[in-house]
Amino acid sequence: SQGLNLADLTLLQQLQHDLGTLADRQWHASPVINGRHYSGERQTVMNPADNRLTVGTVVYADQEAVELALNCAAQAFTDWRLSPGNTRAGKLRQAADLLEQHRLELVSLCVREGGRTIRDALAEVREAVDYCRYYAQSAVELFSAPTKLPGPTGEENLLYHYGRGVFVCISPWNFPIAIFIGQVTAALAAGNTVIAKPASQTALTAMRCVELLHQAGIPEAVLQFLPASGSLTGQYLLPDPRVAGVVFTGSTETAQFINQKLAQHHQAIVPLIAETGGQNVMIADSSAFLEQLVQDAMTSAFNSAGQRCSALRVLFVQREIADKTIALLIGSMQELSLGNPGLYQTDIGPVIGQAELIPLKAHLETMRLDTKLVYQNPLDESLRHGSFFPPSLIEIRSLSQLTQEVFGPVLHLIRYSVSELDQVIHAVNATGYGLTLGIHSRIDANIKAIQQGVKVGNIYVNRNMIGAVVGVQPFGGMGLSGTGPKAGGPDYLRRFTVEQTVTTNT
Ligand code: GLU
Repeated sequence: SQGLNLADLTLLQQLQHDLGTLADRQWHASPVINGRHYSGERQTVMNPADNRLTVGTVVYADQEAVELALNCAAQAFTDWRLSPGNTRAGKLRQAADLLEQHRLELVSLCVREGGRTIRDALAEVREAVDYCRYYAQSAVELFSAPTKLPGPTGEENLLYHYGRGVFVCISPWNFPIAIFIGQVTAALAAGNTVIAKPASQTALTAMRCVELLHQAGIPEAVLQFLPASGSLTGQYLLPDPRVAGVVFTGSTETAQFINQKLAQHHQAIVPLIAETGGQNVMIADSSAFLEQLVQDAMTSAFNSAGQRCSALRVLFVQREIADKTIALLIGSMQELSLGNPGLYQTDIGPVIGQAELIPLKAHLETMRLDTKLVYQNPLDESLRHGSFFPPSLIEIRSLSQLTQEVFGPVLHLIRYSVSELDQVIHAVNATGYGLTLGIHSRIDANIKAIQQGVKVGNIYVNRNMIGAVVGVQPFGGMGLSGTGPKAGGPDYLRRFTVEQTVTTNT
């Protein structure tokens, strides 16, 4: 397995060992409304790495649960809105400590329910802890006291920030801990009450996070947990006038659907903060340091089985270095270890479910007609009970051959000539997406031309292009990739608030 130092290795081996103690534990999730568990029909959750193994059961919300959650969250807003930023921050810091203390359980859930490798799951807990601490600090800085603004003698001008009201947080299955916690803590820190709707595939992990947030002192009425189907959410939750804002991470199509639902509100214009997909490219010219390029392309394309919005989908390689790059990529792919995500040495686990295998298989079939499958890892017979997809490298001619995001371990490669750099930049912008982009070059003029030319939210130069760190690489895209606000950035919390200017003649 790639790039591990001794300290990491020791920690991972220890975790793998300790995970054994939780391997058979069965979990349960249900809507939690004002702290009370809602009952109903239980649906079984299977482990995506082995569909013979159960992880637990989930009760999904019905229309009545949606109504109750909305009522409670709306009532709780009156007090939470006026709670000092410092108080909210204290609770988030407490949540960070609890998440750290419960790391083993969270990693176990994330591996078994989400198919995440131990390394990915560990990184998720760290990211979630970072969100809690970072947004706590932002809340202190932004919301402890109103901002004093200048004015003539005898006039006082103050700018206040308040929560908007009930914020609906709709999170994805690919980061069941980090993005779930990131959305919820941002909305709470800014003074909103929250209805957290997790991805249905990872409701067990999300529920454990909610329990820890409540334990940390977030009032039960302020944070409602609502595992619910997409159709129920669309029909009853999003159109409700008590919804004051939505934060969403997931597909572009779903973001557009949510936007349409919010546009039907008559009493307010309800904002959507969305982070969606990408057609992310990496551009490597002939000055690139090849070994570094290949290692970074491998990590970016295949880590988390390619199930990251930020993942590399298309590697543009200057013709002169293309053959060598391909040879090194094949060599690296042969080194990948594919299999049980609960083993520390596994690089690539399953995709989230059987349903998600279908578009991946269909994509490879379509591509077969007119492109070249350069390499595909063999799939061991022992993995047949899980939803595994073999890492694949496909050479294509142009970006326009890809009509949609391929959410899995599939890397496309395009050769380009040095004179075509402008066309490459144009092609990237023509996709309409703009989330992440990698550059491998040691020519400053090329780096600058690409950086200034592309409409992309996160650019990484001479390194991999995934794993944005909270407070270090604020994360979020533009165009079809999202509405722009950057999670883990200095301006994020303001986007969850309303502003009020008070001018007093003293
Ligand atoms: N923030 C993650 C990263 O930088 C990606 C988040 C996502 O997939 O939505 O890799």
